[in-house]
Amino acid sequence: MKLYSTNNRALIASFREAVLHGLAPDGGLFMPKDLPRLPGDFFRTLEGRNLQDISFAVARALLKDDVPEDILRRIVEEAINFDAPLVRLDDETYVLELFHGPTLAFKDFGARFMARLMGYFVQGADRELTILVATSGDTGSAVAHGFLNVSGIRVFILYPSGGVSPTQEKMLTTLGGNITALEIQGTFDDCQKLVKQAFVDQELREKLFMSSANSINIARLIPQSFYYFYAYGQLADISKPVVISVPSGNFGHLTAGLMAKRMGLPVTKFIAACNANDVVADYLRTGQYKPRQSQKTLSNAMDVGAPSNFARMLELYGHDVEKMRADVWSIGCTDAQTREMIKEVYEKCNYILDPHGAVGYWGLKQYRAANAEQCAGIFFETAHPAKFPETVEEVLGVKVDVPERMRDYISKEKQAVLLPNDFVNFKAFLLG
Ligand SMILES: *Cc1c(COP(=O)(O)O)cnc(C)c1O
Repeated sequence: MKLYSTNNRALIASFREAVLHGLAPDGGLFMPKDLPRLPGDFFRTLEGRNLQDISFAVARALLKDDVPEDILRRIVEEAINFDAPLVRLDDETYVLELFHGPTLAFKDFGARFMARLMGYFVQGADRELTILVATSGDTGSAVAHGFLNVSGIRVFILYPSGGVSPTQEKMLTTLGGNITALEIQGTFDDCQKLVKQAFVDQELREKLFMSSANSINIARLIPQSFYYFYAYGQLADISKPVVISVPSGNFGHLTAGLMAKRMGLPVTKFIAACNANDVVADYLRTGQYKPRQSQKTLSNAMDVGAPSNFARMLELYGHDVEKMRADVWSIGCTDAQTREMIKEVYEKCNYILDPHGAVGYWGLKQYRAANAEQCAGIFFETAHPAKFPETVEEVLGVKVDVPERMRDYISKEKQAVLLPNDFVNFKAFLLG
């Protein structure tokens, strides 16, 4: 796979370069030059195939020139070692559960695949790869878990002291091994600043082999396309048009779906379901893209006012809003509507949604109201409701069952290095 920078089509990189650098040298995002169309045979045999199998077939079509087949198979099998079942809510509504990974959210897919690809690409390097990540919660724990026990890589994860929930803190600080949690006496912005300073510090650049586990890394995007095919394969009835509603923040998830469509996935429409941060819905309505400050909502993993993957979406549609409209429909959801949807789905289907999945359900419901045509609708449940007990329990008045792997983290001992918000100290720690 060859990739170009969204800032400059003439800037070309190999897949290895794109994975290890994350961002293009001109600050653009890496975008595949070509997306292969999967053969008709692949789609005819989707039904009944398991997620790993489908993932490997898609990964091989994309990466056959970049990673040897046996290694790619091992990477897929280790990364995607949990299921993503499609659960039927009624005759034409299905929810794809993407929270069966170790940190109970869909970011496990991207983080685990990226970590193993990086592990492969740094094999034989003379130094360990040092990954620095600043986190305000969930992304950090998915990344930390993703890299756990990947050889040749050590990870430092910086989080604001007192700035993450007790459960999130346990998920970040109980891993051990090649993962070190640094509890910074500052805010999330301070953590991010320390990481940025480290990447431009001359001495650190000379002495360490550093990379970030950036959310815009193409290796995080690719595995997010796998389960679109799997979801389609699990649909009992494909006689009606298929629409998929995707709770969106940075739009990596949705972009991966649009790439799956380019590879031949017969989905009629993608619904970009946003919370109050709905700049992409505005763009599709008006043709004007106006990023703004993000707003806090109940579905906080989607509180993004300037979604980074929008640059990739523009590339897929040649910067033509009409063309994008043919594939994508978008709508925003308020917090009050999010609560209503949690309640509605629980009362109608006895199924508990988290706030992100509730936004996805809202998107599907609004699409149906606006388009008379019958369709088979899938929406994504991107996090386990037990991760958002405050909202869910307040709305439903019932306790959410905590899955065993979450109870495990809570019972373990926190291990973190407490550091002041000070670059000199942080740097000395990294070098020591
Ligand atoms: C990150 C995240 C999203 C949004 O995904 P994007 O790819 O950023 O659009 C949705 N739900 C949850 C739970 C997330 O963690």
